[in-house]
Amino acid sequence: MKLQKDFSEVLTRPVFEVLQKAVAESNDKSYVIGGFVRDHLLNRSQKKDIDVVALGSGINLAITVQKKLEGAKAVQIFKTYGTAMVHWKGIDIEFVGARKESYSKESRNPKVEPGTLEEDQNRRDFTINALAISLNPENYGSLIDPFNGLKDLEKGILRTPLNPDITYSDDPLRMLRAIRFATQLDFTIDKASFDAISRNANRIDIITKERIVDEINKILMTQKPSKGFVLLEKTGLLQRILPELIDLKGVEEIEGQRHKDNFYHTLEVVDNLCENSDDLWLRWAALLHDIGKAPTKKFKPPIGWTFHNHEFVGAKMTYKIFKRLKMPLNEKMKFVQKMVFMSSRPIIIAEEQVTDSAIRRLVFDAGPFIDDLITLCEADITTKNPERFERYHNNFKIVREKIILVEEKDHLRNFQPPISGEMIMKFFNLKPSKEIGLIKEAIKEAILEGEIPNEKEAAFEKMKEEGKKLGLIFHEKAI
Ligand code: ATP
Ligand code: MG
Repeated sequence: MKLQKDFSEVLTRPVFEVLQKAVAESNDKSYVIGGFVRDHLLNRSQKKDIDVVALGSGINLAITVQKKLEGAKAVQIFKTYGTAMVHWKGIDIEFVGARKESYSKESRNPKVEPGTLEEDQNRRDFTINALAISLNPENYGSLIDPFNGLKDLEKGILRTPLNPDITYSDDPLRMLRAIRFATQLDFTIDKASFDAISRNANRIDIITKERIVDEINKILMTQKPSKGFVLLEKTGLLQRILPELIDLKGVEEIEGQRHKDNFYHTLEVVDNLCENSDDLWLRWAALLHDIGKAPTKKFKPPIGWTFHNHEFVGAKMTYKIFKRLKMPLNEKMKFVQKMVFMSSRPIIIAEEQVTDSAIRRLVFDAGPFIDDLITLCEADITTKNPERFERYHNNFKIVREKIILVEEKDHLRNFQPPISGEMIMKFFNLKPSKEIGLIKEAIKEAILEGEIPNEKEAAFEKMKEEGKKLGLIFHEKAI
């Protein structure tokens, strides 16, 4: 990879000029380090985070910088960590004192002492994240690269500055970071690192669920998450984080009939989806859409392999997974559940000529998420048969067109019954009773079948007709 080694444009930006002045006034040597330097070298879209490490007090430097940046918000100080944050014009600058760390077995929180730049670089996760740019008067702008991070950037390799077994065991979160960076940057994990991750995979258990999910989300937000999930699987990490996905692995054959490997199928669906949607939660839905297939798998001659009710089981598993991983159990979880639960519905439609009423029912059931559902189902088309591939996609195109027509006419997406229960009670002079439910249901069915439009007047006539069938009495005056 060709690197952007010229920092001159960066170094003349107002924020860097202020950093330079502040460092010159303080007696502490300071450096920009980590993600900012890496991403500039890689020519990745400019990030708004700058990490500064000071050989001394990062907090004091932050205070000096804040005073020089007009309009900067008050410095946020995190005493326990010895760090400070300055926000200015949408840029976050984080200051930290250089440190060395020593770890205990039980925790990823180290004992921290002040250290040299070299010691600070040593404790960083990867050589490509240890690159530093000097902010000091004697060598402003020069690159400090003690571990050949530049070479690794050029070659696209993730390597730890120290012995990888120590690096990963000290802070097992780094194993996930390695896989996340490999996926984000499309880099290779150095063999020694990969082996060390595989050996230390069980150490992931000391990492909080929130941190783990953070990294999984970052992997899911890349262009091709499959790369990350394959690495998670190969290193043994996935087994400890999402064993339900591992259960989808493998192909069984009975009486010459095979089913597909639902693990690799799932990853293909996720990658497909990522081409058409940036929605993290829809990406989660793609990841979990077949999760119910492992526990429901049966071989039933003469049909062959069946996964009866796997959508329902999968929706239940979705809740359990979210709960176990301490993910939000709010409307996001419900959305993922709904997508998983409905994920097979449009397939049937895609395989055959679709009727209007099937479309109406689909729109009614999916509600505001109908477009997401179709996007998911399109991603689910992984057949290697070009003729079928073409036909399924075409049918979904027709489905999308029909949805628009149904929508224009009947607004089923946010269906509100045109006749309320109260209206029915009043009209037939009824107390709360099952007849009301029956009439409401009949009206809804008539609308979904396309028998009547989704309008008050037509629904009113339908109500009268249904009332008559049930032997209810009304007076025209009641209208
Ligand atoms: P991004 O912000 O795109 O995720 P980044 O490299 O900036 O990437 P941060 O989490 O913001 O990552 O961390 C900033 C820097 O701190 C990293 O570049 C790395 O040098 C160091 N770092 C972060 N987390 C760890 C860790 N768990 N172990 C060692 N070093 C770390
Ligand atoms: Mg960062």
